[in-house]
Amino acid sequence: MTKVNIISESCKGVESCGICIYVCPKGLFGPSSDMNSFGYIPPKIQNIDECTGCQNCMIYCPDFAIVVQGRYREEETAEEDEYE
Ligand code: SF4
Ligand code: SF4
Repeated sequence: MTKVNIISESCKGVESCGICIYVCPKGLFGPSSDMNSFGYIPPKIQNIDECTGCQNCMIYCPDFAIVVQGRYREEETAEEDEYE
């Protein structure tokens, strides 16, 4: 099971950044309903069960605000690629 930890206090906000929203191939990120202590709105995961563990969000976040734990579910991505 993949785990995606969002370190809200390190995020500069989905409105001014939002890179995680664009790089997630599953479109799992949306804005949180809560601000962090700096007044920025961090992302939240909408459906963790669909996360493939690709780590795009962790790799591309410029503020190291996302940590992905767990294995990459390569077989699922390979199956989806057949239909593209
Ligand atoms: S690990 Fe990949 S699929 Fe999971 S939330 Fe991050 S970008 Fe999306
Ligand atoms: S990429 Fe990182 S800094 Fe940018 S909105 Fe997402 S969590 Fe915040």
